[in-house]
Order: sequence, then structure tokens, then C-alpha cells
Amino acid sequence: MSVAANLAGVRERIAAACARSGRDPAGVRIVAVSKTQPAEAVAEAVAAGADAIGENRVQEAAAKRPLVAGATPWHLIGPLQRNKARTALGLFDVIETVDRPELADRLEGLLAGGSRVLPVFLEVNVGGEAAKSGVTAEDAAALAAHILARCPHLRLAGMMTVPPYDPDPERSRPHFAALRALAAGLASRLALPALELSMGMSEDFEVAVEEGATLVRLGRIVFGERRPLA
Ligand SMILES: *Cc1c(COP(=O)(O)O)cnc(C)c1O
Repeated sequence: MSVAANLAGVRERIAAACARSGRDPAGVRIVAVSKTQPAEAVAEAVAAGADAIGENRVQEAAAKRPLVAGATPWHLIGPLQRNKARTALGLFDVIETVDRPELADRLEGLLAGGSRVLPVFLEVNVGGEAAKSGVTAEDAAALAAHILARCPHLRLAGMMTVPPYDPDPERSRPHFAALRALAAGLASRLALPALELSMGMSEDFEVAVEEGATLVRLGRIVFGERRPLA
């Protein structure tokens, strides 16, 4: 199956999930997650109308983005080290993985004095897993407040999460619901516009859409199995 056909199939399934939950499918965008896939595959996804491209490693995006034309935004969906922040700013339009004040401050410092305002998402470790990146649900409000007060070149645009791995997508549902509740609570307390919800991957995106995802991050279902790294 081609990337275009895969995307069309995914859009149908998103539309069905929206119908089940009374949502408008226009409110759900697809981040095509192209890690391990070659630049040609990314270009196919762009041509087929993927709403965004997602990469989890700065170095990999650096190799591919110059080879992919078009205005489709690129999202960083993997952990960002402070020493790669400058490079990341040159490659990504949105950083979905801000999970600590030090990283927000580093990005702010790099953007200070310029006119660019970077949309960022808080990565939230909704499952509270010890080994996982992401701010805890308890600390998310403080991190959001830090960004609002101290980082005028960052725009808090959303929240993303990767729930604990479980082969049964229904087991992800409470985590997605928790992220939605957290985002709604924060937006109302901090008087923010509605926050994007980046949640759902190949195995559980329909459940995520039913729980309010505005961005689903889809890798294998769009591109096929991941390729061994060259
Ligand atoms: C790889 C990855 C995805 C996509 O995973 P698939 O299961 O291939 O859809 C989504 N989000 C993050 C953070 C990832 O690293």
C-alpha cells in the first residue's frame, strides 16, 4: 500500500471515530511520524496531504528536512537535550516535548530578541511511569505557569502524551481522558485558548480521537514497519 492510500484509510477511520463521538473530523490532524523512513517517504506523505511531519530525533530530522520541500510543519515528538535546542529550532516548527522549565528557558533564551514565537506542547507523563520522559500531571500546572510568565517567545499551544504501552487500545482510554481533563482545567485556570491534544498512535488513535485528540501521531500505519537505521 502507498503512503497516500494508507493516509486515506486512516482518514476514514478518524471520520468514523468522530461520528461515534460527535466530533467534526476537521478538528483532527495527522502528524505522520517518519522516524527511520527515508526522505522520499516523507515527501510522499507531504504530497498526500499529511498535516504535519513528526520526527523524534534532531539528527535524523537534520538529515531529512532539507530533502523535503513544502510548507508542511515539522513537529519534534522525541526528547530534546538542551545542547540540541538550537539545532532543533532550525528544523522544527512545533516542539511537542517540553517537559521541564530548564528546557523552556533554553528555548526562550535562544529566541529572545527575535520576533519568532514558537508553539510548544507540554509532554505529560500521564501514566506516571518512572522511566518515561514528560512532566508529571502534578507538575504540569507549574510548568505551564512558568512558560506563561517567563517565556514570551514560547506559545503554550497544547499537550502531548504517550500512555503506558498496552496492546489493548481500550487501556489507553483513561490516560487520554486524563490528558484532556488536565488540559481543559489548565486552559480555564490560566485563561488560555483551548489547548491542542496530541495523543494516539497507530494502535490506539481511534480511542484517542473519541477522547478528544486534535493531533494523532501515526508512524507504522502510514509508512509501514520501521526500517533498520542506516
Ligand atoms: C514513533 C512514535 C509515534 C508513532 O508510533 P506508531 O506506533 O508507529 O504509530 C508516535 N509518537 C511518538 C512519540 C513516537 O516516538
